[in-house]
Amino acid sequence: YDLRNEDLKDLQELGQGNGGSVKKVEHIPTKTIMAKKIVLIDAKPSVRKQILRELHIMHDCHSPYIISFYGAFLSDPNICICMEFMDKGSLDGIYKKIGAIDIEVVSKVALAVLEGLTYLYDVHRIIHRDIKPSNILCNSEGQIKICDFGVSGELINSIADTFVGTSTYMSPERIQGAQYTVKSDVWSMGISLIELALGRFPFSESDPDDDDNFSDLEGTLSPESVLADKREKDKKKDRRKSKGHIVNEPAPRLTPEGRFPGEAEDFVDSCLFKDPDARKTPKDLLKHPWIDMARASKFDCKVWANTF
Ligand code: ATP
Ligand code: MG
Repeated sequence: YDLRNEDLKDLQELGQGNGGSVKKVEHIPTKTIMAKKIVLIDAKPSVRKQILRELHIMHDCHSPYIISFYGAFLSDPNICICMEFMDKGSLDGIYKKIGAIDIEVVSKVALAVLEGLTYLYDVHRIIHRDIKPSNILCNSEGQIKICDFGVSGELINSIADTFVGTSTYMSPERIQGAQYTVKSDVWSMGISLIELALGRFPFSESDPDDDDNFSDLEGTLSPESVLADKREKDKKKDRRKSKGHIVNEPAPRLTPEGRFPGEAEDFVDSCLFKDPDARKTPKDLLKHPWIDMARASKFDCKVWANTF
């Protein structure tokens, strides 16, 4: 595809996130339906070109568990990223619509995410960095794929500069400023799986907590202009609380005990070891008994995906 903005017809707004917005579009010359992500980047032309070059790696990412990439282009002042359109949307939207997700589907989500992460890391040495339900997509074929992985270091930097969102899928070691590894993605996946199985985010923002250690995050979480805003400040305090919580309190679990298969409980527990050395890699977790069960499961995700 030689993508140009003039050839793309807007069909529908799909959603908005921190980095930008996503639209369903038609590539008129080929009649291909795509999802177009528009990212507003306040960076020099040289940096923007660098981002485009870095995004090129996505052309070489081919896996049934990764969203396909059609191309990216600059459309001042934005960068547009065109990718495979997933007609059932993201898993956060799905559970908010239909409620808690059946644990057998959740096991298939775990399988897809682990396969996707293993592919990205083994073949391209890419770490995802943003695993959460809104970055796990589903289509009416019953396929589950991940999107929005960190291929471009410059894009990660540019978005980090303007970042004001919650980041409660972050692993304890990340919150404490350590290097990102594939194991940080495993933590984020564990939190996401609990959220899907329970139908709610497992951390509560109002939990009491000591937030003394987190004053150093003050400057890095959001720009000065946002800090000036009192309401934003209060929200940020909540986030900081829940972040302190992640470091200081026991990790969340699939509860109540006995509601879910023991293999699922054990799998989630092992994703949420606070010590990254104790936590397994995606590749090792592919050998977990719950993932064997997911592979063997006769559950038909295509039928499921067509019930909503
Ligand atoms: P954040 O910006 O914090 O990562 P997010 O993932 O929700 O949050 P976006 O990545 O901008 O934000 O996506 C916005 C919404 O667009 C998603 O929640 C998802 O529902 C929808 N979406 C994104 N990519 C696609 C796609 N390829 N096909 C269909 N829907 C998509
Ligand atoms: Mg996203």
